[in-house]
Amino acid sequence: MSHDPDCIFCKIIDGEIPSFKVFENEKTLAFMDINPVSPGHVLVIPKYHATDLMHIPTDWLKATVAMAQTVARAVDKTLNPQGINMLQSNGPAAGQSVFHLHVHVIPRAAGDKLRFNWGIVPGDMDAIGAIAERIRANVA
Ligand code: AMP
Ligand code: ZN
Repeated sequence: MSHDPDCIFCKIIDGEIPSFKVFENEKTLAFMDINPVSPGHVLVIPKYHATDLMHIPTDWLKATVAMAQTVARAVDKTLNPQGINMLQSNGPAAGQSVFHLHVHVIPRAAGDKLRFNWGIVPGDMDAIGAIAERIRANVA
């Protein structure tokens, strides 16, 4: 199993660093984010050290997303928020600060001040089509 002794989330998995555990199973762990962007902000991680979406084996990713759904349902039942975001960031430019893949489960309220939504601005269809063609060529 992949493990990095210097990784803060691996240390949480090992119990070396305390956490507010919500739920765990063989492959994943869910715990409270200690810098919550809203009450009930939970992190879900694989018990496998991979930095990001590009590096995580698919079976571990599936287990992590399934756990995020389980947690989202529990958050929904507990807090009855008006919405929930599932967010996962890759690379510093995308806002990733801990380099062990994780999924945020974030309760939302209408009109809250969280800033990761954007307005709808129509794109340039030629540019969209051209990028789609380039990405399509690299799908494994
Ligand atoms: P990201 O910015 O997407 O990499 O998210 C990393 C998240 O981990 C942030 O929201 C931090 O608040 C959270 N975090 C960092 N250290 C801890 C910790 N020891 N326990 C719980 N959450 C943490
Ligand atoms: Zn790790």
